[in-house]
Amino acid sequence: MPGGVSSPVRSFKSVGLSPVFIKEGKGARLIDVDNNSYIDYVMSYGPLIAGHCPPTVRAAVAKQIDKGSSYGCSSELEIRLAQTVSEAMPSVPMIRFVNSGTEAAMSAIRLARGVTKRDVVVKCAGCYHGHVDALLVEAGSGALTHGNPSSPGVPASITSNTAIVQYNDLAAAKEIFDKLGDKIAVFALEPICGNMGVIPPQPGYLEGLRELCTKNGTMLLFDEVMTGFRVNLGGAQGLFNVQPDVTCLGKIIGGGLPVGAYGGSAAIMNNISPAGPIYQAGTLSGNPLAMSAGLATLALLTDGTIYTQLEALGARLEAGLKDAAAAAGVTVSVQRVGSMITPFILKGEQPKPITNYIDATSFCDTAAYARFFKAMLDGGVMLPPSQFEAWFISSAHTEGDVDQTIDVAKEAFKAAKAAA
Ligand SMILES: *Cc1c(COP(=O)(O)O)cnc(C)c1O
Repeated sequence: MPGGVSSPVRSFKSVGLSPVFIKEGKGARLIDVDNNSYIDYVMSYGPLIAGHCPPTVRAAVAKQIDKGSSYGCSSELEIRLAQTVSEAMPSVPMIRFVNSGTEAAMSAIRLARGVTKRDVVVKCAGCYHGHVDALLVEAGSGALTHGNPSSPGVPASITSNTAIVQYNDLAAAKEIFDKLGDKIAVFALEPICGNMGVIPPQPGYLEGLRELCTKNGTMLLFDEVMTGFRVNLGGAQGLFNVQPDVTCLGKIIGGGLPVGAYGGSAAIMNNISPAGPIYQAGTLSGNPLAMSAGLATLALLTDGTIYTQLEALGARLEAGLKDAAAAAGVTVSVQRVGSMITPFILKGEQPKPITNYIDATSFCDTAAYARFFKAMLDGGVMLPPSQFEAWFISSAHTEGDVDQTIDVAKEAFKAAKAAA
């Protein structure tokens, strides 16, 4: 396997270590093949909002496997999951299930281009929507309007239709609409960014984008693969009360099994095959095991009490990390929305918020984060092996787990500081 892994971040490359191999996940813990136990804040990068192997999800999947793993025909499970998502997200009365967040984003972009009959896609630097060719772009030198491929193998002809703006920069968004307004099919973003570390939208940003998109006949795409059912039952769109035209989902709605979905109004979604002409299909789409894991997971969320619990745990961790960093003389910006949290370890003495990709890449001390990560791992806490990821708290985490994490962090921040 290239790099020894099935997905790059798992290699621990950006913290300069050898990766840990896991044999079991249970509740808030991971156990590696050497029998080390870790309090887990990776949580499979988001899906496991109720921790590893919650009893009801386990039971639902076990029950379903006895009835078959895939039918090549429709099942009632898809209808029930579609209804559950629609009830939580009013902007998604119609939904198509796929197998990953990447597939959701790729398909949603095709949908937006097909419906608007326009080609240009705008994305925010640092937002991640999976490894979709058209979105593997970085800003071109000076030119605001054309992205360059950020990976070999992506033709420049594909990214030439992708423009990049900084997240949270409404003026830059206006500028791109001024230049290209009638050519822009879709403006895609994470409504709360989690994939450069947690960066909340600034007040008015999402509302401003909504207005610009409506005015220009552009589709607003919220990629809620991470934030959907994570920050709120209704996702970031519910939290901030801004409705996109198209929503991408994944992660939590599959309860730890492979899933993705995209949805929107019937008028938009009925353009997808076989209702409409825009082609998209999948052998394992709407897979009964994934649907049953998703349904069992969402059933744990629908009364909303979990979000109160996660908010309290998140606030406790945030406060503890801030104190621990201050005691060690480490400058941090601890950024959090509910149970998504990132402590950005900053260069210099001056604390400042990370608001976009430029901030993230210029203010953060990634070498210090690598030292912090190692000390946390040695102390029995599994963090994402990169500064630019969200940590996830689950309902399986206890106050005791959080307090233990903070205790380990007190020493880990000292280790982060030591070689600085
Ligand atoms: C994880 C993620 C994706 C990609 O999902 P996969 O299932 O890994 O393909 C897309 N968008 C966002 C916002 C994500 O967090």
